[in-house]
Amino acid sequence: MIPKELDESEIIARAHCAVCGQVALIFWWGDFWGDEGLVIRGIVHERLAPPGTEKQILEQLEKGSIGGVHEIIKPFWKADVGLDAYCPKCDRVYCAEHWKLEDIWEDGWWYDCTYGTCPEGHRRMVDD
Ligand SMILES: [Zn+2]
Ligand SMILES: [Zn+2]
Repeated sequence: MIPKELDESEIIARAHCAVCGQVALIFWWGDFWGDEGLVIRGIVHERLAPPGTEKQILEQLEKGSIGGVHEIIKPFWKADVGLDAYCPKCDRVYCAEHWKLEDIWEDGWWYDCTYGTCPEGHRRMVDD
């Protein structure tokens, strides 16, 4: 799916790559495929924040704690993927160019998941 173009007024916060400074995560509020809410745009997926977590997420963003946001959403999403651009071991955010991303295809044609390796060599599942 093609991410919609965001209006500056919809953007709540951004997180930047620790290596190059490129925007790697965007938190925005608005209409997401018919649902209004807090949307998290990462490097491999864009998802609506789990209902009920919005207030907690906004508190963490105010503190500038991306790790805090990751911890909040992690239990809600399959495989603990949480924030795809975030490496918990580094406690840093990296962009798609600095994560080494590998798509895993089941039987060669069915998308299964994506693994990422951060610049420090930490590997984890970033999408499922
Ligand atoms: Zn980068
Ligand atoms: Zn790392």
